[in-house]
Amino acid sequence: MSGTADAARRDLARIVGDDAVQVPVADRSLVRDMTETRGLSGDALGAVFPGSTDEVAAVVRWCAKVGVPFVPRGGGTGYAGGAMPDAGSLVIAPGRMTRVREAVPQAWRMTVEAGLTTRRLHAAAAGEGLWFAPNPGAAEQSQLGGNIATNAGGPRSFRHGTVRSFLTGVELVLASGEVLVAGGAARKNVEALDLTGLACGSEGTLGVITAAWLRLLPRPEVILPAIALYPDRRAGVAALEAAMACGCVPTALEFVDDRAFAAAAATYPRHAEPGSFAVITESAGPAAIARAEREIIVDALAAGATAVDAPDSPGEQRALESWRDGVSPAVVAVRGGKVSEDFAVPFDRLGEALDMIERIAAGNGAEVACWGHAGDGNVHASVLVDRSDRPALLRAEAVADAFHAVPRSLGGSLTGEHGIGMVKLETAAAELAPALLDAQRAVVDALDPAGLANPGRKIPPARML
Ligand SMILES: Cc1cc2nc3c(=O)[nH]c(=O)nc-3n(C[C@H](O)[C@H](O)[C@H](O)COP(=O)(O)OP(=O)(O)OC[C@H]3O[C@@H](n4cnc5c(N)ncnc54)[C@H](O)[C@@H]3O)c2cc1C
Repeated sequence: MSGTADAARRDLARIVGDDAVQVPVADRSLVRDMTETRGLSGDALGAVFPGSTDEVAAVVRWCAKVGVPFVPRGGGTGYAGGAMPDAGSLVIAPGRMTRVREAVPQAWRMTVEAGLTTRRLHAAAAGEGLWFAPNPGAAEQSQLGGNIATNAGGPRSFRHGTVRSFLTGVELVLASGEVLVAGGAARKNVEALDLTGLACGSEGTLGVITAAWLRLLPRPEVILPAIALYPDRRAGVAALEAAMACGCVPTALEFVDDRAFAAAAATYPRHAEPGSFAVITESAGPAAIARAEREIIVDALAAGATAVDAPDSPGEQRALESWRDGVSPAVVAVRGGKVSEDFAVPFDRLGEALDMIERIAAGNGAEVACWGHAGDGNVHASVLVDRSDRPALLRAEAVADAFHAVPRSLGGSLTGEHGIGMVKLETAAAELAPALLDAQRAVVDALDPAGLANPGRKIPPARML
């Protein structure tokens, strides 16, 4: 170990204890995230696992003192390379900070530390009779801090909004090491600029989120799924429009296109034609209301469907849910890897977006599978690739880049929920309006003048502008 690394290890161990420091990084999974599926990997000076906000603040102050950039890390399930460190930086992973600081079920409120996994947060809320509706995939691994820093969505954000809708406050360790509390327990609060909202989706560039005040919902008595299959995309998109027009708001309104469906057909719980286009909905709430709503939605989905299934038994419902969770891994398994794009378009342009993807894929001889959060116009388009084949990987990257034209020409957003990270930094620099780029650069420069909080992620540097 070099003298510098040795000194870093000693200093950091004094703050968090010997067992909570890795210099150098022993667990190499700490320098990767889900961009690993497209062959990316990082490096770092080391990693620390603080157990309290005070320890996070002391570690960040050390970074400021010695000029070491830091990378906040949750579960490493992000698809944008936001938690993938560059050589010489320090990974700060508050995964030991899992306390529920306060639960006030009668006010639908909890104050929770950022290291709690999404799955355990769901369980903790359920234990209080409450519901944290956002359900991004990979809930076993992803953490509240990462959910906030990416403003995660998932299927249920259609009715209930992304993580931002569930936050009334955050505790954030700024790049100076100062602890900022923005907002708090009150559901309404306009006494300051909305720094809670600013932290949401900041991808680690404003500091380390250590805790949050959550505005939760009453736990739904039932969550009732339904799935309808269609012979082709046109019929599927028409069904999505019918669901949107049916007069009630499903909790989730999802789609899985024919190629993604074919990849996961072997595990589909019922008989189905492999190349079906699937529309999936959920209705949640008190049983009588959710049942009535599901009936209306199922009626709306019936036109043009080859099958409609509204499972009632918990076993069948779980089987459908775990099949849906398995779509992404099944798509990866086709060729061993995928290069994924995440973008959002206005709902009424979704059909055009899927047509454009089809044309770009066909024009490049690429195999592309799409699924996503249809109600939010949020598409995950994956180019299937053997990631050990370098030239094929580069071709797949180029096809994925070509998809950026889709949100650009349809009035959408370059990313709906996975974030900019490092994988879309150049695209953001090229495509976002100069005034927007200047404004966000000014914000991060004001809060982090030395540029130590997750540099090279989310916010294009001045030289790229
Ligand atoms: C199978 C699968 C399905 C997915 N489905 C969805 C989905 O439906 N919807 C969705 O939105 N996302 C989805 N994702 C992406 C990912 O799970 C979410 O973005 C998740 O919220 C990231 O959380 P994480 O803890 O893993 O964050 P990480 O990957 O560790 O980090 C992501 C970003 O957040 C920053 N960050 C992490 N923790 C902190 C902190 N404490 N303070 C400040 N910054 C921090 C990192 O620096 C990085 O920029 C999916 C991922 C997988 C693998």
